[in-house]
Amino acid sequence: MKTLVKAMAKFKGGVKVPHNKNTAENESVIIEQPKIVIIPLQQHIGGPCEPTVKSREIVTVGQVIGDSKAYVSAPIHASVSGKVKGIKPVLLANGQTCDAIHIENDELYTRAQEPAPIQIDSKDDLLNAARDSGLVGIGGAGFPLHVKLAIKEETPIDILVINGAECEPFITSDYRESLEYPERIIAGMQVVMKQLNISHGVVGIESNKPKGLQILRDRLNELADLDPAIDIMEIPSLYPQGAEKMLVYATTGRKIPPGKLPSEVGCLIMNISTISRLQEYLETGLPLIQKRVTVDGNVATPKNVVAPIGTPISEIVKFCNGFIDEPSKVILGGPMMGIAQYSLDLPITKQTNAITILSETQALPEESPCIRCGRCVTACPMSLLPVQIERCARNKDLENLKKLNVSACMECGCCAYVCPAGRKLVQSMKQAKLLEREAVK
Ligand code: SF4
Ligand code: SF4
Repeated sequence: MKTLVKAMAKFKGGVKVPHNKNTAENESVIIEQPKIVIIPLQQHIGGPCEPTVKSREIVTVGQVIGDSKAYVSAPIHASVSGKVKGIKPVLLANGQTCDAIHIENDELYTRAQEPAPIQIDSKDDLLNAARDSGLVGIGGAGFPLHVKLAIKEETPIDILVINGAECEPFITSDYRESLEYPERIIAGMQVVMKQLNISHGVVGIESNKPKGLQILRDRLNELADLDPAIDIMEIPSLYPQGAEKMLVYATTGRKIPPGKLPSEVGCLIMNISTISRLQEYLETGLPLIQKRVTVDGNVATPKNVVAPIGTPISEIVKFCNGFIDEPSKVILGGPMMGIAQYSLDLPITKQTNAITILSETQALPEESPCIRCGRCVTACPMSLLPVQIERCARNKDLENLKKLNVSACMECGCCAYVCPAGRKLVQSMKQAKLLEREAVK
């Protein structure tokens, strides 16, 4: 196979985190059907959906139950069949609330339609299919896929970069996708590259996942010379390798300028599970109704659970045989960038890829005064000064904050991870960004 992308550049900063990927070799398991699913009408960046069903209506699997006229949005589908019990507000992982459709599962799994492939002959066909699939960036970003794929003529794309880094500790849901569905990943890339006229494709996978790299390479080799335009690239195992800027640099050697998007340097990035789920939709017509969620940490049986969207966290933890002991934190996502939850009644959404349960000893230490060691500065992959930003945020010192480029912070958590004083630096970064935004108003 001809190698078209020559790079593997290491970025500045970052941290070596323990992998703790206890579920890496466990095949995904399907959860027993939950009695109730709670499906929020806001599961993407952009306009929230309005319900298209009413209370007491009977719905089928894959039926559209929420949609929006906003361009930046994605339809929401029923993940089980049964009766709509009500449309009530629900607390989301980020602390906001929105309406959610509660469906009582009849456990019949009646489909809205029989599986059938979707014909794709043009870019418009692809964009329409991406929207109909309900897909958003399911690695956590939540950006509607059809909007991402609508590349503009003024910013031509020549490389499709597939993000298989999965650099957060514990999480293996993308890794399992590469082991369980390698052919879907390659086929999905071929469709997107063909319809969007993208000449090269590269899958970036961290060096700590040799099996994932091998299985995708084997799949490509089976295609022999049919597709020399796709590379499977081993990239350094360093957190946050999966962040856009770091991934593009590692796989292509291109640097995204501050404040710019990957398209500025000719790259379109898609998560490895997103491309695979797109291909699944093209093969079956079944929209995004379930997610693979890594459940790990302080839980009796760590698993990769495939669950209907809307399944409460509590049901998934129960399926993994519960906590080992009283958890200190239950996080949706990984320990570095995930969000701690106050209630286990919350449902999983399109963006949920992990439930990480931390014990008392795994949670961050109590805060103590900064000792000015400078470790946060060395660790920051965006070359920011977290210690100074924190001071300005706490003192509400807007004048100096403006000079510190806090908007470039991607909230990766490297600074907080290395801080020996347990400073809540990511919270300070969020607060600093808010202060800046409010000052601009
Ligand atoms: S959270 Fe922000 S300030 Fe801290 S290391 Fe990451 S990018 Fe830098
Ligand atoms: S790592 Fe923590 S203790 Fe060290 S300078 Fe940064 S904030 Fe201060």
